[in-house]
Amino acid sequence: MKEKAESLQQPKTWNYEQYKAYLLLLSRKPEAILDYNQFPKTIQLSKDWHSFLNQTRSETKDDHERYAIAGCKPDFYALYLSSKATKGNPHEVPAKILSNEEEKAINNNIEIIEIIHSHSTPYGFSSKDLYFLLTFVQPVKVMCLVNHNNNFLAFPSKETEQTRDPKILSQDKFAEFWKKQASNTHDAAIKIAQRHKLVFYSGEPNKDLKRITT
Ligand SMILES: [Zn+2]
Repeated sequence: MKEKAESLQQPKTWNYEQYKAYLLLLSRKPEAILDYNQFPKTIQLSKDWHSFLNQTRSETKDDHERYAIAGCKPDFYALYLSSKATKGNPHEVPAKILSNEEEKAINNNIEIIEIIHSHSTPYGFSSKDLYFLLTFVQPVKVMCLVNHNNNFLAFPSKETEQTRDPKILSQDKFAEFWKKQASNTHDAAIKIAQRHKLVFYSGEPNKDLKRITT
């Protein structure tokens, strides 16, 4: 009993070191994934991360979405982040870029922990984005998104089923299903988060990210 009570006591705010420690821990020990209710209220990113996100936001003003990955090497010591996000197509990141970046990571002996992309629209996570958190072959620990005004994070939790077979439910079918259930993109994202117990955060540029699904 005592152990359980202690394990539930997560700090209300994670500083960048705690955020990084959680992601590196998950890479070593996937079963350490937190329960939905254990995630903190606030997450602070480092200055380097904020400047990377700001740079990605500003590059996306040409309307081409950007994509990057962050990961770790087998020593699980540091989070490696690309120095520059890769340029995608207008309003989308083509699948080719996803597979190229994955291949690059494998060649550099980097295990993918986080995927980052930008939107050229004022919208947050789309249902197609969230599909990746449920079906990615190598489970993603966190997804980061940048749009005109905000930074976003989405984490799967212990209650999230990440085993859905993409062959059974395609990305298009998933998006179509949720479009019918919701009034707009934001509403669909919130409903998907509730159904699949995903934890969302958002924050303005250079500010802490606050939990928006509770
Ligand atoms: Zn997206």
